[in-house]
Amino acid sequence: MEHPENNEAYKGLTVNRGIEQPSSVNPYLKGRKKVRKPELSAGEYVEGILKGNITILSRAVTLIESVKPGHQALAQEVIEKCLPYSGNSVRIGISGVPGAGKSTSIDVFGLHVLEQGGKLAVLAIDPSSERSKGSILGDKTRMEKLSVHPDSFIRPSPSAGSLGGVARKTRETIILCEAAGFDKIFVETVGVGQSETAVHSMVDFFLLIQLAGTGDELQGIKRGIMEMADGIVINKADGTNIEKAQLAATQFRNALHLFPAPESGWTPKVLTYSGFYNIGVKEIWDMIYEYIDFVKANGYFNDRRNEQSKYWMYESINKQLRDSFYNDPAIRLLIPQMEQKVLCSDVTSFVAARKLLDTYFEKLRNG
Ligand code: GDP
Repeated sequence: MEHPENNEAYKGLTVNRGIEQPSSVNPYLKGRKKVRKPELSAGEYVEGILKGNITILSRAVTLIESVKPGHQALAQEVIEKCLPYSGNSVRIGISGVPGAGKSTSIDVFGLHVLEQGGKLAVLAIDPSSERSKGSILGDKTRMEKLSVHPDSFIRPSPSAGSLGGVARKTRETIILCEAAGFDKIFVETVGVGQSETAVHSMVDFFLLIQLAGTGDELQGIKRGIMEMADGIVINKADGTNIEKAQLAATQFRNALHLFPAPESGWTPKVLTYSGFYNIGVKEIWDMIYEYIDFVKANGYFNDRRNEQSKYWMYESINKQLRDSFYNDPAIRLLIPQMEQKVLCSDVTSFVAARKLLDTYFEKLRNG
């Protein structure tokens, strides 16, 4: 067919008709029925978890992470029923600043511990992560070998929220994983702040990964992170970095002497290794197993777990009280008013708080 431009009638510029755009809705999807996964009962969840069914375990974890009250209630029931089957594992916290080599190390650590059999779950606490943007932690592609291992379960951090909330969800996930037969649990966290304290409150051994030659080797001291560590390991002790790593290890050993002796009776060790080249990994795990045997023998292993349970009891109470208070309709109405009054200096913060609390307690008393 002749191009219109060549047509006698064509004069000057014309606008082309343009290309017809495809529909933004995939036409093949139209015919497909939406398949909804059937809701499971608490009993079905528990049965699946106890059989080690990974799909059901994953769904139960999703339930824990859900904010819907219905899901929350179901999740709590599942957790409660799994509790008697939990606890039978070794829980290791692994922390380090971004770039310290956590993913690389967890990949080799994981394969190392799985060589001796058992099952490993890798969880994470990263309050800064948002699932939609791709979680920094727990992303399966970061642990290439471990993620395809049949006996591993890798779960990213619950999506962004308060640190307490994220940590609580991870702790609850530990319970489900243990009930599903995972006897080794890694909890990973970015070593940049308070998340260490949260991890420390749920693990048996806290491993701190550090780097040499960054000029801030001892930065952890300031934040008290070092004080929490049961073991410090200097990564990337390979190539031209070996000497620097050893020097850093000496500095850490010296710095550890400044701290009071830990309650466990165990003196934290400092080792160097290379996650990338798999050098010194066995030594790290020999140290961790030695620690576990040591604290199991002197009773500290159980004491620490009991202390942690106590901590979580209070955390749980605090959360429920806060939720009950802030979700109360009368309080929700009153809060913006009181906030405004405080901002305008009409009332003091104490008076405002008193008024809000009085309103809440009075409502409780009157049912
Ligand atoms: P993460 O942010 O703590 O998870 O750290 P990654 O595991 O992603 O490692 C950060 C970078 O350090 C990557 O480029 C790794 O290849 C590199 N790396 C990790 N472990 C080692 C190691 O043992 N030696 C060397 N030379 N590089 C390493």
